[in-house]
Amino acid sequence: MFNRAEYVSDTEWNRFLEASKNFATPNIFINLRTIKRRFIQLKDSFPFAQIYYAVKSNPGIPVIKMLAELGSNFDIASRYELDKVLALNVSPDKLSYGNTIKKAADVKYFYDKGVRMFATDSKEDLKNIAKYAPASRVYVRILVENSSTADWPLSRKFGCHPDMAYDLLVQARELGLTPYGISFHAGSQQRDIGAWNDAIAKTKYLFESLEDEEGIKLSMINMGGGFPAHYIQETNDLKDYASEITRYLHDDFGDDIPAIILEPGRSLVGDSGILTSEVVLISRKNNTALQRWVYLDAGKFNGLIETLEESIKYPVITEKDGGREGEVIIAGPTCDSADIMYEDEKYKMPIDLKIGDKVYWLTTGAYTSSYASVGFNGFPPIQAYYLTEDGIEDSEGNSLSC
Ligand SMILES: *Cc1c(COP(=O)(O)O)cnc(C)c1O
Repeated sequence: MFNRAEYVSDTEWNRFLEASKNFATPNIFINLRTIKRRFIQLKDSFPFAQIYYAVKSNPGIPVIKMLAELGSNFDIASRYELDKVLALNVSPDKLSYGNTIKKAADVKYFYDKGVRMFATDSKEDLKNIAKYAPASRVYVRILVENSSTADWPLSRKFGCHPDMAYDLLVQARELGLTPYGISFHAGSQQRDIGAWNDAIAKTKYLFESLEDEEGIKLSMINMGGGFPAHYIQETNDLKDYASEITRYLHDDFGDDIPAIILEPGRSLVGDSGILTSEVVLISRKNNTALQRWVYLDAGKFNGLIETLEESIKYPVITEKDGGREGEVIIAGPTCDSADIMYEDEKYKMPIDLKIGDKVYWLTTGAYTSSYASVGFNGFPPIQAYYLTEDGIEDSEGNSLSC
């Protein structure tokens, strides 16, 4: 149903097969080469931007380590992510506390560790920042409309109306903080590049009115993530995103473009992952049913949570691909009826698929390995392995090569 070569080159596929052949399923292999390539592409496409990798999308130590070596900064969401990144000797001035939902104790923890840049979208949080992270830079996240064209929207929960952002930045100055800029997230896997245009226009309005009416000169726009990975639904190339978004910036800000931060997650790591699962059972619900149910040893609770509401549609291939195919419903191994990945979307698998065959989920490098349960039905968390230039590492960065 899917042409593997459109997603993974022959060279990298063979490298993956060789590396993964002795590991128990289910597992996820992350190819660091792919992430490096995506990072360099992003830097080349937005040469004026600073990149803050959104650690939550794949918090494996080999990934963080490599991106740190490539000069990346990091968007951090919790004290646990903070400890992990600092332990790799990343300087706290390369970090931003991007989560708008945080405890006062966590603000203090970040401040004590040397972090001086904080996101906010509410009064109470701003007060905590002023109290526990005095004189830090704050940027305010604004709400943007994006739910219909982003496959994983991130709307509503984060951000505030621009009028409120205005008030928060005025208040930030009164509280002794540095009003630094505006942030937004256009929605993850955002297929409509125009979403950035709307958000940049709102940002421009805030820059202008704050300067004219309050004498507050903001200097940074954090444009979030949202750039696409290669799933089954078509998207524009990254270079189209870059040229359009750069044009929007010039349209609104002329030659005087503020400092730009990008926080990519999915677009950097998504394409790097291959999740290998095994067929546990194939059945039909009645004697003449046309559709087969294919139950795998991976599901919503161990790596594939973004199939929730069939939001993210991964390319799925099997070791029997190439012959006749029939429609399937794909489900996971747990005793929860929510553990069905695809039913409405009509996936097809080979007629001669058998129990024990391998089924590969491509583009599973983002929001999979750490987005899994710890032991539902007793199944252990899915293991992630990292394919480096020298061999294989586990998620802690320990070498597994012999
Ligand atoms: C999750 C997140 C990102 C990453 O978004 P992608 O769409 O995966 O690139 C960036 N910024 C913030 C604040 C986030 O919460």
